[in-house]
Amino acid sequence: MSGNFVTTRFNAALGWARKFSLFHYPYVTACCGMEYMSTACAHFDIDRFGAGWTRFSPRQSDLILVVGTIPHKLAPVLKTVYDQMTEPKWVIAFGACTLSGGIYDNYAVVQGIDQIIPVDIYIPGCPPRPEMVLDGLLKLQQKIQTSEPDWRWKKKKS
Ligand code: SF4
Repeated sequence: MSGNFVTTRFNAALGWARKFSLFHYPYVTACCGMEYMSTACAHFDIDRFGAGWTRFSPRQSDLILVVGTIPHKLAPVLKTVYDQMTEPKWVIAFGACTLSGGIYDNYAVVQGIDQIIPVDIYIPGCPPRPEMVLDGLLKLQQKIQTSEPDWRWKKKKS
C-alpha cells in the first residue's frame, strides 16, 4: 500500500480523550485532605494530567476521590453521591482510612469503602504523599485507556 494514513480503533481514541478530561469530585472528610490540596495546587499540579477541574456536583463528575475517614453515618451519603454520578465513572480510595479504616479499627468507621462502592485505584498511606496520588492517577489513566468504554456496565450485567 502506498501513501500515509493513520488508523486507530474508536475505543482507543475515546479512552485517550477520556483519560485527559477527568472532572473529579473531592469527597473529603479528614486529614488526608491536606495532601489532596497539596496535590491539587501549583507545586504538584494535578492539572498537568488533565484532572484539574474540581466539580462539586456528582452529575458533572466522572471521578470521585474519597479522601479521609468514612464513618458509618456518612456511608449512605457516599453511596448516594456515587449513584448520582453519570457513567462512565471511576473511584479512587485515597489514604489508609478509605482502604481499610486505617488506625480507626472500631465500630464507628467503615473498614474499607469498597464495602459501599466499587474502587478502581487504591492509594495507601497515612496520608499518602502527593507523588503517590499522582502515581495512582496515572494508573487510573492507564486503566481508562485500556478499558472498553462500557466495561463497568458489562461487569454489572454479568
Ligand atoms: S489515612 Fe491518616 S491522614 Fe488520612 S484521613 Fe486517615 S488518619 Fe488522616
